[in-house]
Amino acid sequence: MPSKYTGQCACGSVRFAFDTDPTFVADCYCLDCQKSSGGVMATYFSVPEADFTLLSGNPNGFGYVADTGNKLRRRFCPECGARVYTDQLEGFPGTIFVMLGALDHPERITPPLMEIFTKRRLVWTKALDVPQHRARPDAD
Ligand SMILES: [Zn+2]
Ligand SMILES: [Zn+2]
Repeated sequence: MPSKYTGQCACGSVRFAFDTDPTFVADCYCLDCQKSSGGVMATYFSVPEADFTLLSGNPNGFGYVADTGNKLRRRFCPECGARVYTDQLEGFPGTIFVMLGALDHPERITPPLMEIFTKRRLVWTKALDVPQHRARPDAD
């Protein structure tokens, strides 16, 4: 049976699939999301690692320390450079954080349920009508 959700990088080399309906979907304004996306924020959601299947490609990994002090690994396509997902996040074992824009049909999952690291929000961006967290949701 085909998976409920599929996604890929910009060039299509890295492809993935999962079935879980995401329940954690966030707009993240942290420094890494700004720097690695080149935008004002990034939207991502969590999927259990056990449900996440890499269908093709060999995503490269870049390990770094987040604003929170936690280590994690940002995965990107070595062919096109697109950021696809994050794994090995300290404190969230067995969880993959997928970039919303990598989905083939991002409109099929729930809109963001919270905005996080809003302390780095640019003043000209508008807050969504969802809970706002200055840093991690459990930190303020
Ligand atoms: Zn690619
Ligand atoms: Zn972030």
